[in-house]
Amino acid sequence: MTEKPWLAHYPPEIPQTLEYESKPVQDYLTHTFETYPEKTAIHFMGKDITYKELYESSMKFASYLQGLGIKKGDRVAIMLPNSPQAVIGFYGILYAGGVVVMTNPLYTEREISYQMKNSGAKAILVMDILYPRVTKVMKETELENIIVTGIKEYLPFPKNMVYPFIQKKQYGITVKVEHRGSNHLFSEIMKTGSTEVQLPEFDFEKDLALLQYTGGTTGSPKGVMLTHKNLISNATMCDSWLYKTKHGEETVLGIIPLFHVYGLTTVLILSVMQGNKMVLLPKFDPETALKTINKQKPTLFPGAPTLYIGLMNHPDISKYDLSSIKACLSGSAPLPAEVQEKFERITGGRLVEGYGLTETSPVTHSNLVWGERVKGSIGLPYPDTDCKVFQPGTNEEVPHGEIGEIGIKGPQVMQGYWNNPEATAATFADGWLMTGDLGYVDEDGHFFIVDRKKDMIIAGGFNIYPREIEEILYENEAIQECVVAGIPDPYRGETVKAYIVLKEGMSITEQELDAFCREHLAAFKVPRIYEFRTELPKTAVGKILRRSLIEEEKTKLNEA
Ligand code: AMP
Repeated sequence: MTEKPWLAHYPPEIPQTLEYESKPVQDYLTHTFETYPEKTAIHFMGKDITYKELYESSMKFASYLQGLGIKKGDRVAIMLPNSPQAVIGFYGILYAGGVVVMTNPLYTEREISYQMKNSGAKAILVMDILYPRVTKVMKETELENIIVTGIKEYLPFPKNMVYPFIQKKQYGITVKVEHRGSNHLFSEIMKTGSTEVQLPEFDFEKDLALLQYTGGTTGSPKGVMLTHKNLISNATMCDSWLYKTKHGEETVLGIIPLFHVYGLTTVLILSVMQGNKMVLLPKFDPETALKTINKQKPTLFPGAPTLYIGLMNHPDISKYDLSSIKACLSGSAPLPAEVQEKFERITGGRLVEGYGLTETSPVTHSNLVWGERVKGSIGLPYPDTDCKVFQPGTNEEVPHGEIGEIGIKGPQVMQGYWNNPEATAATFADGWLMTGDLGYVDEDGHFFIVDRKKDMIIAGGFNIYPREIEEILYENEAIQECVVAGIPDPYRGETVKAYIVLKEGMSITEQELDAFCREHLAAFKVPRIYEFRTELPKTAVGKILRRSLIEEEKTKLNEA
């Protein structure tokens, strides 16, 4: 195989190597505010926020944080759903010199406590309904300040309108002073705060911008250290891939969570870098998403397969005009071909599969948005990104076409795991980040993911890749969603089980599914057990939690 054969597929518009501006992430907001002060930066539930407002609000937040004693390198957490406050919080922390710790708002007390302790966060910006959960664990952590905000602060407030997700909570909460430190209202900071900030000097290459926790689906979470350079490089790569987009004129639909690095880079950072408008939704609900596309006319829409599947199976999809969509990057999990085709037929836009992980800020590969795509492939490495396939557990390359572990090098690769040199050492080999994903590359340089190393099933001595079985199941028209897992089996070590969600109004029996799988798969791969469910457990970005299903099975076995 020639060196980097994928470069031959790049259209002339995508440079093989890019120039990265050596400035911190927040400088892009300063620049966009200076260029387009009156342009809408954020549209949220009927309200528009201009770049001037976003910039000034972020500076007020930064000034406030500095007033609390937050210094360069201090960690500050954000625990919010997609909302203007999450964007203001992110840029405010960076202007103050802090390092952002994005925290999933669905976290339990135990998970919050772990993340706060591990990161050593000094302050947290949190939504009012989550406030009690944070105060309960505050004692165990280094948190000194809690800044509270209500999601309603940025709603346009038609008096009699009902917002289902905040109904239970009244606006304006009583803030109790806890055992140490103090609590602050975000709305007050926005009303009366100063915009005076001591802007710290930044080392673009070395200074951390983000501690992003990952590993929740596979083990105890680790803080991925991402620098300003990591994030800027990845956003610049995404920008180069989207070469037909016009800076300042696009509208980005932000449904994927901004507290995951995928939403953070492709929505929160890229939109500001390009001077675009982000339309934020606090949670995924197919009907609200369809109505929002119909009305707000987004042109870019990064997402995960489960999100596109949810939209494509909505019974009223034909009532909505989705033709504004130009380009969608689907990441986080394999994209079923059927969903891609239907989405493109209905919207007229392009939906392409990409790949990445938190440790790489996150995107490393993508199919071309405008150009050739290869079915089932995660596409080509991004500019300046090198990728090789290694014999698992070694740093020896496997011959092309053979399955091995995917390794990555590039400016988007993390610095390591926070306070965890053992885990860092175990993840890098000879400077290559080992992804834990098994895959192969064809002679042309298109990469394919076969499965996660940890998800491979060994049943009766055979290696079985759940993803291959899932792809077959997705071809069955009765199936809306499915996941295949290796569950403990006393005789075969593991056995193949498929969890199925059927499309509304559809039915199929186990026998019919078995016959369908036998037609397409070798007998040893055919699921031995099927379970029908109304929904499957998922992470915040919509990745199906295969591990939690396996844990359920283990618990059942232990209890039996
Ligand atoms: P996270 O760190 O949460 O973003 O998860 C990263 C993991 O998601 C990767 O290591 C892969 O296992 C998986 N992943 C991301 N994109 C894809 C894709 N297109 N196909 C298959 N798996 C993917």
